[in-house]
Amino acid sequence: MEKSLLIYNTLSRKKEIFTPLHPPMVGMYVCGPTVYGDPHLGHARPAITFDVVFRYLQHMGYRVRYVRNITDVGHLEGDRDYGEDKISRKARLEHMEPMEIVQRYTNEYHLKMMQLNVLPPSIEPTASGHIIEQQELVERILENGYAYERGGSVYFDVEKYNREHHYGRLSGRKTDDLLANTRELEKQEEKKSPLDFAIWKKADPQHLMKWPSRWGMGFPGWHLECSVMSSKYLGEEFDIHGGGLDLLFPHHECEIAQTVAGYGSEPARYWMHNNMITLNGQKMGKSLGNAISLEEFFTGRHALLEKGYSPMAIRFFMLQAHYRSTLDFSNKALKAAEKGLERLFEGMANLDRISASKKPGIDIAKIEKGFFDAMNDDFNTPIAIAHLFEGVKTINSVLAGDGSLALSEPEKWKMFYRLAVGEILGLTVPLAEGRDHALSENLIKFLLKMRTDARQNKDFALADRIRDELANLGIEVKDTKDGFEWKLTK
Ligand code: ZN
Repeated sequence: MEKSLLIYNTLSRKKEIFTPLHPPMVGMYVCGPTVYGDPHLGHARPAITFDVVFRYLQHMGYRVRYVRNITDVGHLEGDRDYGEDKISRKARLEHMEPMEIVQRYTNEYHLKMMQLNVLPPSIEPTASGHIIEQQELVERILENGYAYERGGSVYFDVEKYNREHHYGRLSGRKTDDLLANTRELEKQEEKKSPLDFAIWKKADPQHLMKWPSRWGMGFPGWHLECSVMSSKYLGEEFDIHGGGLDLLFPHHECEIAQTVAGYGSEPARYWMHNNMITLNGQKMGKSLGNAISLEEFFTGRHALLEKGYSPMAIRFFMLQAHYRSTLDFSNKALKAAEKGLERLFEGMANLDRISASKKPGIDIAKIEKGFFDAMNDDFNTPIAIAHLFEGVKTINSVLAGDGSLALSEPEKWKMFYRLAVGEILGLTVPLAEGRDHALSENLIKFLLKMRTDARQNKDFALADRIRDELANLGIEVKDTKDGFEWKLTK
């Protein structure tokens, strides 16, 4: 039944058979969040999309190194080349250290991802942890003649690059059109062309997050971190680069230009983009007053929500649409998804009530083939889920019937549903006993990981508080040579 996997490649604008560079290894890089606020739906979609890709590739037998970064410096307001850093701004408003903001929202992001049953990536590097590497790439781009220094900032020379390569190859944009659409060079008079972008930016004296460099005190341009961290952990060429469609231009286009200018080759062979989410047919955004955080979705505490929706209902709802389609959230659609998920889990539970029959019965092969064919067709989860519901219909009619209908080998049905629903789609039955246990275990591990991070950051007060609070809950943590051990004391 081994079939090849087709992936829609944004670069070629068509589906291609997935052939990794160095099988069975697969390198995948996905642009992660800028951690300056509560995680919202816009964070959940790429995380869930690429979680399913991660899970499915592993199911196919690949060894996937999945890198998803945390942006903690250099992402300026309005995604521009000037103005305030998003994290600094939040730190200033909240009277906190920028790194306190980073820690708070990184923890928040991890917790929400765990609730959505999104597996942690293999490596989660931060921009601030790779300043030296970013300076090195700036040097290389300068040496290769694709950048110039002006007043302590270094800009990427898009026109020069475009004469020799193709700026706009990924997004399909043309530099002439881009130029025609650019407004005045406001606050950008240092640039040779408005298309140029900063790869290193001079920091004003009041700027909080800055580092010494050959060009003076400054900080890296936003696009630079992904070029640096993907090549550091996956090599200058790797298999899959993913992210939301909103990152296609300029972020990913600039990433390609930087990597080509610095290392001489394009970074990723397959570019995958998940589409955007709307809410009641409207674009979501803070200024529109309809940006709902995941916490608000889970609890229902928001004026636009009639009730709370479980993380699994939200995950299921997202998977019921293809990742390349836009997805509109509404109370009605979410309630329908909730019902659908319940029906799926009920069907799976009903399998336990069906015993093996001596008569020939319906076997799982057709459902299984339908599911995998859909997954192999660019991760078509809505079609894959439709096949699972076909199976549920069969299960329910066998159970309700007069005995004339039977399943052949119900054990195989169970195994398939556990694999497809639980492991590949990552949907777990809420509130089942096993789930509670796994959740507690994961929560303890998560807290212990936070404690390790705190100790590494020399925040011993926080580390001790986590240990003491866990002790109060009856969980004893002991530090050992190799890390820690924990056990329940009550
Ligand atoms: Zn990125």
